[in-house]
Amino acid sequence: MEQLRWGTPDRLRSLLCELVSWKSMTLTEGEREFPSKVQAKLQDLRYFKENPGHLGLHDADLDRRFLTGLYKHASSKETIVLLSHFDTVNTEEYGDLEEYAYQPEELTKLLINRIDELHGDAHRDLLSGEYLFGRGTMDMKMGLAMHMGLLEKATVEKWPINLLLLTVPDEEVNSSGMRAAVTKLLELKDQHNLSYKLFLNGEPVFTQEPGDRSFYVYSGSIGKIMPSALFYGKETHVGEPLSGITAPFIASFLTQRMEWNLSLQEKVNGETTPLPVTLQQKDLRLEYSAQTPFRSAALYNVFLMKRTADEIMEIFEKVAIDAAEACNQAYKEVCLKHSVQPVGKVRVLRYEDLQTHAIRKFGVDFVEEIKAQVEEIQNWDDREKSIRIADSLMIECQELAPAIVLLYAPPYYPAVNSSDDDLVKSCFQFVRDIGQRRFKLPVKQVHYFNGISDLSYVNYHDEGEGWTAFKANTPVWGSSYCIPFDDMTQLRAPVLNVGPFGKDAHKRTERLHIKNSFEEVPYLVEEMIKMIIKSMCQSVH
Ligand SMILES: [Zn+2]
Repeated sequence: MEQLRWGTPDRLRSLLCELVSWKSMTLTEGEREFPSKVQAKLQDLRYFKENPGHLGLHDADLDRRFLTGLYKHASSKETIVLLSHFDTVNTEEYGDLEEYAYQPEELTKLLINRIDELHGDAHRDLLSGEYLFGRGTMDMKMGLAMHMGLLEKATVEKWPINLLLLTVPDEEVNSSGMRAAVTKLLELKDQHNLSYKLFLNGEPVFTQEPGDRSFYVYSGSIGKIMPSALFYGKETHVGEPLSGITAPFIASFLTQRMEWNLSLQEKVNGETTPLPVTLQQKDLRLEYSAQTPFRSAALYNVFLMKRTADEIMEIFEKVAIDAAEACNQAYKEVCLKHSVQPVGKVRVLRYEDLQTHAIRKFGVDFVEEIKAQVEEIQNWDDREKSIRIADSLMIECQELAPAIVLLYAPPYYPAVNSSDDDLVKSCFQFVRDIGQRRFKLPVKQVHYFNGISDLSYVNYHDEGEGWTAFKANTPVWGSSYCIPFDDMTQLRAPVLNVGPFGKDAHKRTERLHIKNSFEEVPYLVEEMIKMIIKSMCQSVH
C-alpha cells in the first residue's frame, strides 16, 4: 500500500499550514494564484498523473479561477461534490503581527508571549495548547485540506464512488466563483456521466454562544438578500428649506422601519434569522454643497430561510409604503404650519416600474446606454452601480419625484435546506453516533448554517417564480451580476456541511481546534462517505 501524503494528523497539519501560507485574500493577486498551486499539488498524486484530464482550472471573473479535481470510479455514477472556498478576509486587525497571520505555527507561538492581550475564551484556548491560530485556518482552508486528504485516500484505496473536489474564490464577497462553477458542474456531469448525490461543504462549525463546545452538522445554509432604496427628493437651497424635500428626511422614515423589522424575521424549525439591519445609508453627492441633498440611498441586510426574493420584495414594499405615508403626513403638517405648498407626495415604486417608465419615455436603447455608462466605471462595485443606475434613470424621469425606488443590490444568497432528505438524515444520525462513540463528541444538527455559504447556489427550489422579482429589480442583472437560477435548479442533490471546529472567524483570534480538525472530523467524514457507499450497494442489491 502506498503511503498517503496527507493521511495522518501531522501531515494534514502541514498541508493546512502550507495552504494558509499561500495568502489569498479576496480580490488580491494571491487569490488569483491560489488554485493553480492546489492543482500542482494534486498533479503530484499518481491518480492525476494517470488522469490529467480530471483536473481543471476554470474561469470565474476578474482573472480568478476555480479548480475541479475528479476521482472517478470506473463502475460508479454516484458522485459527492466536496465544496470549499479558498479566499480569506483581510488581515489588518493583526497589527504588527500581520506578517505572521499566514504562519499558524509561528503565530500561535508568538501569541503566547502576548497572552495578556487576549481575553476570555481566546486566552484560555491559547493556554490549553489545543488551538492553532491564523487567517484562514478555520475559514476555511482546513475544509479544503481535509477534502484533499479524502480525495487522495479515495484514489489510492479505489473507493467505489466518485468524488469531485471543487474549490472556488470570492466566497467572502460576491461568490462569483461558485456562481460560475454551477454551469461547470452541469458540464462535468454530462462529460463524465455523473449523478450528483450530495453537495458536501466543509465550512467550519460556528459556536452558537461563547463557550459552546457542541459540534454542529449543518443540513442547510441561511439566505441573505439586500433590499435597497434610492431616495429621490426635490432640491432647494439651504436658505429655502421648504421649497424642496431632502432625501435624508425621506430615508429616515424607511430606515426607522427597516432596522430590526420583525416582519422580515423568519423562524423555521426552532431557528430564527438575525433581524434586518441597515448596512449603509448615504448621500449620492460626491462633494459638499449648499444645495440640499436630494438623492441618497440605503442598503438593508435581510436573512431568509424559506422566503424567496419575491416574498421579500412584497414585504419591503409594504414597509416602504407605510414609511412614505408617514413621511407625507409629517411633511404635510409642516407645510400647513408654514402655509407653503407641498412640492408633491413621496411615491413608492419598484425599480422595474421605473425602468418600464423610462423605456416608454425614451426607448430601450437610451436606457441600455445609461446602464452601460454606469457599468463602465471601474471603481464602482455592484452595489454602487445598482444605486447609480436607478439614480441616472430618476434624473431623466423627474416627473416621478419625490420617490422611493425599491431595488435589490447584489449579492443574493438564496436559502437552501435539506433537513427532510433521507440521505441527509442518515448522515446526521451516523455522524452523531460515531462522534459520540469514538470521540465523545456532542454532535448536534443545525438546519441553516448561519455563516453564509456557497451551498446557496445548488439545489435551488422555487415553487413559483420566486426569483423573477430579483431579476427584474436588480439594475446590474445580466451585466455585472448574474445568478444561474435555471442551472441551479438542475443541480438536484441534498446539501450538507461538516467542517472543523474553530472560533472567531474573521477576527484576529481566528483559530482551529487541533484534535477536532486533524483527527476527528476527517475520520467522521471519511466514515460517513463509506456509509453512503454501503447504503448505495444495499439499494442496488
Ligand atoms: Zn467561509
